[in-house]
Amino acid sequence: MSDQQKQGIIKSFVHNELVSVLTTQPINRFLDYKVPFGGLIQGSFVEVPLGPRKVIGVVWGPGQGGYDPKKIRSISNILEIAPMHPEMQEFLTRVGRYTLTSLNAMLRLATRAPGLGDPPSMRKVYALGDAIIDRMTPAREKVLATLKNTTDMRFTAHELKEEAGVSLSVIKGLVAQNAIIELETPRDTPYPNLDPFYPSKKLTSAQMTASKKLRSFVAMQSYNTTLLRGVTGSGKTEVYLEAVAECLSQGRQALVLIPEIALTVEFLDRVEKRFGKQPAQWHSGVTMTEKRRCWRMVGAGQAQIVIGARSSLFLPFDNLGLIVVDEEHDTSYKQEDGVLYSARDMAVMRASISGGSVVLASATPSLETWANAQAGKYNRIDLTERFGAALMPDMATIDMREQLMGTNSWISSDLGREIDVRLERSEQSLLFLNRRGYAPITVCRKCGEQIGCDHCDARMVEHRFQGHLMCHQCGETKKMPEECPSCKEVGSLSAVGPGVERLAEEAEKRFPDAKISVLSSDMLMSAKALKQRISAIAAGEADIIIGTQLVAKGHNFPLLTLVGVIDSDLALMGGDLRAAERTFQLMRQVAGRAGRSDKKGIAYLQTHQPDHPVIKAILNGDEEEFWQAEANQRLAAGMPPFGRLAGIVLKGPDITQVFNLANHMVRNAPMLDAIGAEIYGPAPAPIARVRDNHRVRILVKAPKEVTIQGALAQWRDSVQIPRDIHISIDIDPQTFY
Ligand code: ADP
Ligand code: ZN
Repeated sequence: MSDQQKQGIIKSFVHNELVSVLTTQPINRFLDYKVPFGGLIQGSFVEVPLGPRKVIGVVWGPGQGGYDPKKIRSISNILEIAPMHPEMQEFLTRVGRYTLTSLNAMLRLATRAPGLGDPPSMRKVYALGDAIIDRMTPAREKVLATLKNTTDMRFTAHELKEEAGVSLSVIKGLVAQNAIIELETPRDTPYPNLDPFYPSKKLTSAQMTASKKLRSFVAMQSYNTTLLRGVTGSGKTEVYLEAVAECLSQGRQALVLIPEIALTVEFLDRVEKRFGKQPAQWHSGVTMTEKRRCWRMVGAGQAQIVIGARSSLFLPFDNLGLIVVDEEHDTSYKQEDGVLYSARDMAVMRASISGGSVVLASATPSLETWANAQAGKYNRIDLTERFGAALMPDMATIDMREQLMGTNSWISSDLGREIDVRLERSEQSLLFLNRRGYAPITVCRKCGEQIGCDHCDARMVEHRFQGHLMCHQCGETKKMPEECPSCKEVGSLSAVGPGVERLAEEAEKRFPDAKISVLSSDMLMSAKALKQRISAIAAGEADIIIGTQLVAKGHNFPLLTLVGVIDSDLALMGGDLRAAERTFQLMRQVAGRAGRSDKKGIAYLQTHQPDHPVIKAILNGDEEEFWQAEANQRLAAGMPPFGRLAGIVLKGPDITQVFNLANHMVRNAPMLDAIGAEIYGPAPAPIARVRDNHRVRILVKAPKEVTIQGALAQWRDSVQIPRDIHISIDIDPQTFY
């Protein structure tokens, strides 16, 4: 019996008692079932009959009654996995309420591991037997030596073959003689033990002070959140791994969220260096078998650390003591389809339920987090200096209004000269352009037609490496046409504007002797291959790196001393709520790639508006001043984090029908008036058509003190939504297209 059962927090149910079961089916209610022979406890994962099928669900609590007891069926099967904790039930309930998502959909999010209904499966592993071998060969010796040298008997035939470097028949031969024996063990094995006292790096005194504070917060074993703000290269990772160590030594589990799966391999290595072994991982690049193992072992308390993407927040941790959100400002923490949640905010919610700590780490925190620290809701720890001899890079603008630019060229002569200097000194330069592909626009020189997507109001982007045009909204691709689709002129289509591929072309012409390497998020590579590529570049394989947003995130390039931002105005153009904040974060993150060893770096921003307040703030580096100014503006406008915002998108194939419904909703919203909310719109969304659906936006703004979810749900449920119209409500929207 667990502690919680003893304390009576977890209810037990006896044979034939009624329980309510939550399934992952889209039915939006609980279903009553009878408890099978032997009884069960709240949270048990079960298989229940539903119509002709059997589906998986969780025993949520006592039955609700109200049905004809004779018609109520029995639970068919109790699954052999750890029951869901009451904490997890509460977490799913609260996230569902916050994001206006049904509990069934929340449960789907929390059970996204394959084969949960399957019994624990077995696999064959090999160990030394005691028979004497009739004839020893070098290959046989290798196998026996491999098995002798291992403490954990976990080699499958395939692994043994690889490790010993022999053929399968050698192994079979040994088995036939009983020299080695086959054993059956569970497929989902516990993760290796991680050692919080493993000898690790010596921290600097600033890092030591910071890590002691963090450790003391974790040691409290009750809810708290800390902003760990440290300039790029200050050793934030080293510091929060100390918090992880504290958590492990208490016997609790830790989750580290990272924003980019391309970074996981590097990160796993860092964990191994600190704790002696590799931790569990959970993200889209992990195999199904590994996902299944991770999900089960996390639930059984046999995975101490998980490195994961945002969805790992919904793993069934047995005893979660710490969540680290690395690069907490990163936009990838917001899930933009399905359940619209912010993993950063929900991490805080989860820790507040499980009585754990949260560390939000960033060089350029989000305004929300900064404001929460200002208000005293979060602790704040600052690391102001880079580790070792590394200095923060200088920053300067290049005024593009004064540069003579040739046609189809984007590297100014000032920037070009700086790159020449780096090439002479064998140092690296990074050119940053946040545009994938070859060119953002393809236009007909004769009639002016721009090639657009057939299904979206978006231009097709040329990807020359892959030899096609691609819609970045829906992913549709087509071949570059020979003739203009409108006027039929042959050979008249030409590329307008730069993407990274085109920038690489310019760089190859301008610096013919330099080795140039492109790093873009659409490169079709495995995480491992990408990591190898990045390591090779970091080791000096390229002289000039050309990259999109991917390079801004956390990679270390020790030889890099120059960063050139090709178009600093690009990010400012969006004009939405967060354009200034995003530009500030991105530019400072990118600049932070430079000068990470003993050579000082510099970042140049090419811009047409060197006097823009955001560009000036980026240059003078007074971050507190920037955030304060941003905060003041948001406060004056009643915008987040000082007010509440919800973005509503209605979409459907018939534009009139979509607009009619939107207008009807806006005119009939007494529940929103009642809480003092303001409604803006309806208006066509900035991208007004995606995948043949017309999109209309409404924005709801409300004072900070009110809870808007109740009113929004009532409002949504008060209208009859036609079958082919889809409505989504995004609480705390991050994007506005
Ligand atoms: P941040 O996350 O703040 O950008 P990192 O933790 O990645 O910084 O540290 C930057 C680099 O400096 C890494 O290569 C890291 O291993 C190294 N480093 C930081 N602190 C130490 C230390 N105390 N001893 C040795 N290396 C360190
Ligand atoms: Zn499209």
